[in-house]
Amino acid sequence: MALLGPINRIKPLKEGNFFCPKCNDQTAYRAKEVRRWFSVMNMPVLPLASPEGVVECTICNGTYEMNVLDAKLNEDEQAFLENFEKAILNAMLLLMMSDGHIDDAEVQTVIEVYAKLTDKTLGREDMLAQAEHVLAAGHTLEDYLLSIADVLNNDGKRLVIRSMSLVAAADGKMEDAERETIIECAQIIGLARTTALEILEDPS
Ligand SMILES: [Zn+2]
Repeated sequence: MALLGPINRIKPLKEGNFFCPKCNDQTAYRAKEVRRWFSVMNMPVLPLASPEGVVECTICNGTYEMNVLDAKLNEDEQAFLENFEKAILNAMLLLMMSDGHIDDAEVQTVIEVYAKLTDKTLGREDMLAQAEHVLAAGHTLEDYLLSIADVLNNDGKRLVIRSMSLVAAADGKMEDAERETIIECAQIIGLARTTALEILEDPS
């Protein structure tokens, strides 16, 4: 090795799982920070560049920039996300229609809550079409809740109940029947009655 010259100093950053584009699969990665230094007898004395993050797949040894860690979901994750978004939307729509009519404020709230949860904008017409479709398909609120209950952690479950509470409260008054429905829904997905009451108290 030359007495004077550039060397790379490597600092481990973190480890975890990510979607490796080369393996096309979920694999373990090691992330590290690499910085090029001018060295004298192998001692770094002067930084030559800013530190750069590198992500390395432990299976194929492929290296990527740090932003690969926020890369797109794989197919299973994508499918899960779509199901989840759909289940929440359908649960809100069924709740909205459970009193037999569709209220303008409720429609607006479903659109807002859905946008907040998913980053997707749903037009009023599309939403009403979806509501009709859900009704026609004959699915119940319980069906949709059960389809997501197993895969959600407590935060996810609270989020679902919070979304429903916001919809129920949208017309300015929360009817007893709506409250009871939401408490039942909370219990279906495995939340305690007291937790449901807490969320109903303060859904915002
Ligand atoms: Zn790989």
